Amino acid sequence: MTLATERQTDRQTFDSLEPETGQVYATFPVHTADDVDAAVARAREAATWWVGLGFDGRKQRLDAWRVQIAKRLDEIAEVMHRENGKPVADAMIELALTVDHLHWAAKNARKVLGQRRVPSGLLMANNAAFLEYQPLGVVGVIGPWNYPIFTPMGSIAYALAAGNAVVFKPSEYTPAVGKWFTDLFAEVVPEQPVLQLVTGLGDTGAALCRSGVDKVAFTGSTRTGKKVMAACAETLTPVLMECGGKDAMIVDDDADVVAAADAALWGGMANAGQTCIGIERVYATEKAYDGFVAALREKVAKLQAGTSYGHITMPSQAEIIKAHIDDALEHGGTLVSGGKVEGTLVEPTVIVDVPEESLAIKEETFGPTLTVTKVKDVDEAVTHANATTYGLAGAVYSKRRGMEIARRLRSGMTSINAVQSFASVPSLPFGGTGDSGFGRIHGEDGLKEFAWAKAITKQRMRPLLTLTSFDRTKKADELLVKTVRFLYGRR
Ligand code: NDP
Repeated sequence: MTLATERQTDRQTFDSLEPETGQVYATFPVHTADDVDAAVARAREAATWWVGLGFDGRKQRLDAWRVQIAKRLDEIAEVMHRENGKPVADAMIELALTVDHLHWAAKNARKVLGQRRVPSGLLMANNAAFLEYQPLGVVGVIGPWNYPIFTPMGSIAYALAAGNAVVFKPSEYTPAVGKWFTDLFAEVVPEQPVLQLVTGLGDTGAALCRSGVDKVAFTGSTRTGKKVMAACAETLTPVLMECGGKDAMIVDDDADVVAAADAALWGGMANAGQTCIGIERVYATEKAYDGFVAALREKVAKLQAGTSYGHITMPSQAEIIKAHIDDALEHGGTLVSGGKVEGTLVEPTVIVDVPEESLAIKEETFGPTLTVTKVKDVDEAVTHANATTYGLAGAVYSKRRGMEIARRLRSGMTSINAVQSFASVPSLPFGGTGDSGFGRIHGEDGLKEFAWAKAITKQRMRPLLTLTSFDRTKKADELLVKTVRFLYGRR
């Protein structure tokens, strides 16, 4: 047996391991920069063919892919369980959301990106104006391991639906999941390598950044995101950055504290807390605090590491989680539950009275931990929630003021009286601000992220005033001034 901490790599291959047993699950090639360049060259030809299919042809094939994934859910859920460590039932939730997004992207691509007439304005009334969004060409997608299908597909499905070919580099922790769905795509679309997989470690991802792709869609940590941007800057390759978060939940005076506690636990501990949009901090008002903590205490007692959620996928992350718990306790925090980290299993951990300067409040923990802090009122809660360099998502529990509070949170996404529900609405954009990155996957914005706007005008009749000619008359110049004053010089 190979222990997870003794991960084997050599120059040609690397292993992905089962977090539960530490055994080797699969072995993959380390693709070199030449391999990546060759994949991108193939993708460029494939992109021409894919564009030629038009929206309908692409929709047909994306729908066929989606049907195949839906038919073989059990198979892929097992691969996700073995390679990522998450329970099969959680893998199913991830897959359900994935196919829903794939369906939406294929269905809506024409409506969002296809050519449409737009008003040409009074000064240009003799022209018809058209807007459409054309595919970028080849998109490089670099994915993380925590949601090994849902997260990369947020880019892949939308990039493909927009008419691009994709070269996908999965995390070295979950290459088998990536291989499963890219192989399935190749079965459904055998004609051209429209979606290809390249595997390897960080260097392979870096090679993809330098390969001349037309955009890199990156999901991962802020630290690696900065490296990706630096590499992409060398070739002026645009980037989409979906990075980490330090999401907060606010529990208002009138909140249903039992529902809030239930949601905080799921938001903080599902997937062993390895969720970019996971709740890591809770700010409860004085009125709500006692009831909320009591409900949380009761509910967290029923959770068990290894059953309610799986192992920590990346063994080194367990040390970071432990450091955050230790730091919180050393600085005056009190455990409500859990606190133990044994190997890659972390107990469901709730800590109260954690000072705002602690690691567990400031930095992404990415484990099944929650801090709960009592605040005077919602204003103080909002101030704390926003006092982070991240700005990904969050949640608000409030009966009367949910919308008002949600709008004051400096983050890309907020759910009211629920957690993470925005991620399941395909028509809503997904992404953050600050250290959480920029650009959007999902929804109309997610389709446009993988296309460039093309503006076309067509002259329908001779203009009343010919302005774009050296032959224009003085009279035309005077008339222009009069017209502008008439149209815009008054309220
Ligand atoms: P990492 O940043 O470690 O890795 C992300 C990807 O980048 C992996 O495929 C990795 O490859 C690759 N990579 C590593 N080094 C380089 C490099 N120099 N150039 C190009 N690519 C490179 O993130 P994790 O996999 O640990 O993912 C967890 C993080 O992702 C968390 O911070 C989480 O918050 C964030 N995340 C954000 C989401 C969002 O939508 N905002 C969604 C999900 C996660 P390899 O694994 O082979 O090193």
